[in-house]
Amino acid sequence: MLNLVLFGPPGAGKGTQSQKLIEKYGLIHLSTGDLLRGEISQGTALGLEAKKLMDEGILVPDAVVIGMISNKLDANKDAKGFIFDGFPRTVAQAEALDTLLESKQSAISGMIALQVDDDELEHRLLLRGKDSGRPDDANPEVIRKRIKEYNDKTAPVAGFYQAQNKFKSINGIGSIDEIFNSISAIISSY
Ligand code: AMP
Repeated sequence: MLNLVLFGPPGAGKGTQSQKLIEKYGLIHLSTGDLLRGEISQGTALGLEAKKLMDEGILVPDAVVIGMISNKLDANKDAKGFIFDGFPRTVAQAEALDTLLESKQSAISGMIALQVDDDELEHRLLLRGKDSGRPDDANPEVIRKRIKEYNDKTAPVAGFYQAQNKFKSINGIGSIDEIFNSISAIISSY
């Protein structure tokens, strides 16, 4: 199986690159942000609870996202592999993911990080907010909170995969195709 963690701050381009990776490698895309927005649009209790935190730019509890990922892994037993996008976002989530995959005799192939500086992220997210319809993209204060959550809680996840020799980082500024080629080159080295 090819199990890829696409890593990087909000606005780094993980969603865009995921779409191209799905096409090329036939992987299942698991974005916890998309799954949570799905719960919100269906009006579930989980969605209502998550929405409050998401609108403020705060991470939802680990147990919520780990549960959602576990269900998706179970529902896609014959998958060639998965792209994890926006997950894991804490070290506890990364540990839980390893345990879940181990129980399926599988593992993470590698983490690929897209590097983009904070000013560029803020600019991209405000631009995306004009037509994404996402309340958390439209407000500069919430955007800065999301970037802070990333730096405080999510950035340490890179060290978790570094310790397993599974971490590679690339420049996330450039054309979509240039970045995709860098990612594909890393995948072909697995
Ligand atoms: P995203 O679409 O990945 O930018 O996620 C939007 C929001 O959903 C985040 O700001 C968090 O509030 C929440 N979220 C998404 N994924 C996670 C995760 N793995 N852990 C905790 N919160 C998450």
